[in-house]
Amino acid sequence: MDYNSRKLVPYIPPAEYDKVAHEFLEQFYPDALKNPMPVPIEEIAKTGLGLDVQYICLSEELDIYGMTIFTDGVVEVYDPDEGLYDTKSFKAKTVLIDPEAVKKTNTGCRNNTIAHECVHWYKHRYYYKMQKFSLPRYAKYCKCRVDQLPESTDEENIMESQAIGIAPRILMPKNTFVEAAEHLGVAYGKDNRSAICTLADLFDVSKQSVEIRLEECSLL
Ligand SMILES: [Zn+2]
Repeated sequence: MDYNSRKLVPYIPPAEYDKVAHEFLEQFYPDALKNPMPVPIEEIAKTGLGLDVQYICLSEELDIYGMTIFTDGVVEVYDPDEGLYDTKSFKAKTVLIDPEAVKKTNTGCRNNTIAHECVHWYKHRYYYKMQKFSLPRYAKYCKCRVDQLPESTDEENIMESQAIGIAPRILMPKNTFVEAAEHLGVAYGKDNRSAICTLADLFDVSKQSVEIRLEECSLL
């Protein structure tokens, strides 16, 4: 993998997303490359990558669904009981997921969000750790928003696209996913609703996530 040495943003064209997902699973959960099965992504995040996954409300508008924290420090979180934003200390390698905001994402899928944050840690930690700019006391982190962030730098947009593209490929690896979908008779123009439900159960993801993945694999 080539790194842009100055900015540490990995160069991963979309055509290589499946390859990166494959490498991730080879390292952390190779069984998922052999047979269709749910990828225990929260367990992989914890034991494979050493991340501490916590569930917490991140914003009043529910527009931030996840964060990965790269250095020790405080970050802003929302306290729905008090109706106020507050700062809270976290350790490096913490992933924060807002379960209510996850429902507003296009996949509506908690496992997809955890996989997304795993990609940020797996591929983007050097960039964020080396960022020069940070506020005193604040952790270096990335914030993942339901709608693409207009104020983000180009680098951050590139990395966000990589995480969005690679996460579902980790949960639904191409070969086993296509094999399962074909076995269930998924085909363009057919009523595939029951097959989509079966695939969602089989891979432990949402039906929306399955539909998007079927389109990516040119099966829908
Ligand atoms: Zn993200």
